[in-house]
Amino acid sequence: MANNYLKLQFLSVPENQAFARDAVAAFCLPLNPTLSQLSDVKTAVSEAVTNCTVHAYRGKTGMVTVECVLSDDKLHITVIDEGSGIADVEKAVQPFFTTLPSDERSGMGFTIMQTFMDEFAVTSCEGEGTRVDMEKRFLSEVENA
Ligand code: ATP
Ligand code: MG
Repeated sequence: MANNYLKLQFLSVPENQAFARDAVAAFCLPLNPTLSQLSDVKTAVSEAVTNCTVHAYRGKTGMVTVECVLSDDKLHITVIDEGSGIADVEKAVQPFFTTLPSDERSGMGFTIMQTFMDEFAVTSCEGEGTRVDMEKRFLSEVENA
């Protein structure tokens, strides 16, 4: 499988969430993902990009960058914003932690990313922005078993 690279930059408006999710899904099709693997990647990208819209740039819009690196049987995804940043990342990644309970957020976005992807890491600096790194390995179902 040839290696490949994709960089998307778009405004944090909600209508770009589906675009980003579907673009990343299309990018990883050459790895012959199962429907379940594809759905995991789409959900994780959706959660990360939604966080840029609702948290990083709350009440404004800003740029979101999604980078994908395809190498052998692995897809590495990075979602970057230059928004508010996160004061305490360790706390933010806990299940059910949310700073927006009034908006009916459940605090499960990071937990979903962590569960659906094979690798997951968040780095953030308050006032500067946030970077989410995720990796999915596309082993065949037989190899995966
Ligand atoms: P849900 O994803 O279930 O709708 P949520 O977005 O609050 O709720 P997570 O996605 O797990 O839950 O995020 C947890 C918290 O981390 C958020 O409430 C927010 O405070 C912070 N956060 C997440 N992503 C960002 C980001 N890109 N910039 C700033 N803060 C963020
Ligand atoms: Mg979220």
